[in-house]
Amino acid sequence: MLVVMQAQATEEQVRAVCEKVETMGLRAHAIPGAQRIAIGVTGNSSTVEPGTLDDMAGVAEVIRVSKPYKLVSREAKDDDSVIGFDGCSIGGRDLIIMAGPCAVESREQAFAIAERVQKAGAQFFRGGAFKPRTSPYSFQGLGLDGLRIMADIREQFGLKIVTEAVDNESLDLVEQHADVIQIGARNMQNFSLLRRAGRAHKPVLLKRGMSATVEEFLMAAEYIMAEGNYEVILCERGVRTFADHARNTLDLSIIPAVQRLSHLPIVVDPSHGTGKRAQVIPMSRAAVAAGADGLLVEVHHDPDRALSDGMQSLFPDQFDELMDEIRQVAQVVHRTLAAPADRRTSQPAVAR
Ligand code: PEP
Ligand code: MN
Repeated sequence: MLVVMQAQATEEQVRAVCEKVETMGLRAHAIPGAQRIAIGVTGNSSTVEPGTLDDMAGVAEVIRVSKPYKLVSREAKDDDSVIGFDGCSIGGRDLIIMAGPCAVESREQAFAIAERVQKAGAQFFRGGAFKPRTSPYSFQGLGLDGLRIMADIREQFGLKIVTEAVDNESLDLVEQHADVIQIGARNMQNFSLLRRAGRAHKPVLLKRGMSATVEEFLMAAEYIMAEGNYEVILCERGVRTFADHARNTLDLSIIPAVQRLSHLPIVVDPSHGTGKRAQVIPMSRAAVAAGADGLLVEVHHDPDRALSDGMQSLFPDQFDELMDEIRQVAQVVHRTLAAPADRRTSQPAVAR
């Protein structure tokens, strides 16, 4: 259910509706839009009697949301959500680029790659510290040491940090050290982890599960939002199909599908989406042309020796080429690349 407030409704009227909703054992989510505030009502412990909220001061109308997802839906918020960071934002006119190695392997490796991706124009450094690996014998990431290396990268290069949390314990650490918490494809329906991410005070990058429908994907985002974290960035990273010329099939048609159903930004990961270095640049161009709000790209300075995903990692020179090309494609779809991370605007190192 959605309580749409009048454009001129006062803060007090919004608060009164939220309080009323909470006294009914439900949760109220005030969602500011360009024209007016809507209050999403969620919870499964009671129902609202018709008429209870309609007559309250400042209420324009009360509507039942027809979709299973509520807060994620365009019905709740007509205009696109823009997630702001110091120096850039995701979901507006600017495209943002997240780049880095699949896994942080050492300080030297991570710094060498960070230097190149920052120079090429990325805003975010994406590196794994907790890696969800198919085999328990594969490199699992440096854990907390990896997070500390990335916090130092933020300090030195001004790059914001995106990194994955694989469970509640690692999420606590990622929340402390990173700017964006990644939830990986394998955990897209790990509902307790989604709830924990929903209680975090950092934006969440939610990757699409490898066989998730658009509805399942949006319902996973709804879990996060239902807990009160409205800063969710969706990420298409390919799905499993019969096609065997790529590791996954990058499903770019989900971009317009999501944009129709939801106000949340969506970025594309052409690295896991293809699994093959030679396909990454063409699919990056295609993702931008299809309307993605940004890209997540794996880059490694020595991919043949990478501890994970070397086959799909671009060489830094190729990443330069990618940036040059998508800058041009962006123009065609009336987008611009966000300004590169600025070393001088770097943040102080976080507490260790
Ligand atoms: C990753 O981003 O490194 C990763 C493991 O991706 P996914 O969850 O999409 O497989
Ligand atoms: Mn990877």
